[in-house]
Amino acid sequence: MTKSLKINNTTSEVAVGKILCLGRNYAEHVKEMNVKVTEDPVIFLKPTSALVRNGEPVFYPPITQNLHHEVELVLVIGRTGKNIPESDAKNYIMGYAIGLDMTLRDIQSKAKKEGLPWTVAKGFDCSAPVSDIIPKEKINDPDNLTIICKVNGDVRQKSSTKNMIMPTDRIVSYISSIFKLEPGDLIFTGTPEGVGPVKIGDIVEAEIAGYIKTTHRIMASE
Ligand code: MG
Repeated sequence: MTKSLKINNTTSEVAVGKILCLGRNYAEHVKEMNVKVTEDPVIFLKPTSALVRNGEPVFYPPITQNLHHEVELVLVIGRTGKNIPESDAKNYIMGYAIGLDMTLRDIQSKAKKEGLPWTVAKGFDCSAPVSDIIPKEKINDPDNLTIICKVNGDVRQKSSTKNMIMPTDRIVSYISSIFKLEPGDLIFTGTPEGVGPVKIGDIVEAEIAGYIKTTHRIMASE
């Protein structure tokens, strides 16, 4: 099944390609994780099958005791590009969304300790809830948006994309020097401080204040 996202307030859909994610892009989150800002950013992938659309449930994987929310601005790529200069980066973006980089924190901690990849901790089924897409014309400055994560109505994360260590143009440029970008690819841009656990029955909401929201119930595994 092709996974797709809706363009907000239209009947159009965008087929999603690869899902690229940046780690350690907010200094306050790096601090709370007791890790260092690396010289080159941490990059990892999620499979398209991990995508969850607004309103769909997130199934709690039985392999974890510690499922975490990480709210992140998501860039939606609109054109094929490789080695994109920062000055041209915005021309490759078709829109923005809000996403949750759901993470199995216990499995990630073990992988970090053992120097192993994060594939299980970050790429499991339902690890990528993403809102509808806001066309880029509607957003003046992607590097000055308030992003929020609420659990059962309580604010758990709230920050501005101003606080990103690597701003959006540089992210597109850097990632495209390694991975050819194609229409429908998504880039998760990293999470601010305040990450924490969710449990079965919780309602998790992620939003770009004033623009878009995505809501998900955490449910027992299928
Ligand atoms: Mg993240």
